[in-house]
Amino acid sequence: MEKNIKELLGGRIVNTRVLTNQQISQLMSLGSKKYPVIYQEGSQYFCRRCLTEIDLADFHDQKMYCRACLNFGKLRKGDELIITNSNLSFHIPKTPMTWQGQLTNLQDTVAQETKSAFQKQQDHLIWAVTGAGKTEIIYPLINEALLQNKRVAICSPRVDVCLELQPRLQQAFRNVPIGLFHGQSQTSYFPTPIMISTVHQLIRFESAFDLIIVDEVDSFPLAGDEMLHQAIYKAKKDSGSITYLSATPPVELLANVKTKKISLSKLYQRFHGHPLPEPQTHLLLKKSQFLGINPRIKKMLSSLIKSQTRFMLFFPRIPEMLQFAVSLQKKWPNLKFVTVSSKDSERLKKVQQFREERASAILTTTILERGVTFHKVAVIVIDADSEEFSKTALIQIAGRAGRFKDAADDLVHFFYQYYDQKIKSACCQIKQINQQAVNK
Ligand SMILES: [Zn+2]
Repeated sequence: MEKNIKELLGGRIVNTRVLTNQQISQLMSLGSKKYPVIYQEGSQYFCRRCLTEIDLADFHDQKMYCRACLNFGKLRKGDELIITNSNLSFHIPKTPMTWQGQLTNLQDTVAQETKSAFQKQQDHLIWAVTGAGKTEIIYPLINEALLQNKRVAICSPRVDVCLELQPRLQQAFRNVPIGLFHGQSQTSYFPTPIMISTVHQLIRFESAFDLIIVDEVDSFPLAGDEMLHQAIYKAKKDSGSITYLSATPPVELLANVKTKKISLSKLYQRFHGHPLPEPQTHLLLKKSQFLGINPRIKKMLSSLIKSQTRFMLFFPRIPEMLQFAVSLQKKWPNLKFVTVSSKDSERLKKVQQFREERASAILTTTILERGVTFHKVAVIVIDADSEEFSKTALIQIAGRAGRFKDAADDLVHFFYQYYDQKIKSACCQIKQINQQAVNK
């Protein structure tokens, strides 16, 4: 069998136009199925790959294609899709999990609840505060799925989260092949018992996975994107289930919890048992970049630098961040810091530099609001009243602090000119979570 044929298996959706006749007949003989690119429901038409409704007027000649999933290759009217056989069997070691760590009692309770939801084919949400150790909580679930010869996909809307997950999971399941696939990855797809990918990649799959774990379900671009949510459902086998993870679950999911469509486990305590750092709020009478750096902010930075405390500075937008960086360098020429944003191709390298304490400060946009863990850092939000900082973003950002037992009381500061509703709600929710953790 040609190697590339094997690489197409596992519930992949492939346009026959990119295959040779020989490949098509090979795939069909391996139990794949062929479908027209458009299907009809009532009077409506949908794209078979991304399930988006199609206006047939768009398809009036052969050049027209589904615009919604264009990034995955043009699907033209008249094209045919092959959905490849997803009944694969992998060689799974007797004890797939090589992780030697221990869950806390609270973590273990959630892990057991999640496992039992999976066994009942019930979709489940883990609502765990930032720093609760949610990655470790899903290890027993993944282990159970592998022991039953089930195929697992672990997805996040954010590439950075996928990149951070991969080495940790590979360490926890050392002898299990784990594939990592995203839009920018160098390796092309091949079937593995565990796949880590961005949620986007699920558009290329149908009925492929027994268990789909969606990390950071509330984050951009998944939040509010119907096509991506459908892609998750489509990629799951009928007998499979979905486990969602979030520290700030979206209202739509919580509504499904209310109607019992999804079961819920809550974990309000961080793994080290200390409360979440509660933000201190600071009103600025002048703009944050007034005379270079606003004197109130300058005072705070000065005391952090003096005490050799490392810090993260969050900005709503890239230009403000870069302008601030210039002032920062001017005021403290010896301060070693890095700036990162979504537009920065060196981002991962710079984050690593800060993690390894080769830089004392990191200036960032919301790109680092989640998915990153640093030891002993003060977390500061500049212009917290900007629209770029949603309540969820502020809670996630505050959650970057106090993640280690020996630094559980890292400081969090919000600077703003207008104390708005979302700053208030974010601070309230963090307080409430801390109270609930105590009452548990
Ligand atoms: Zn489409």
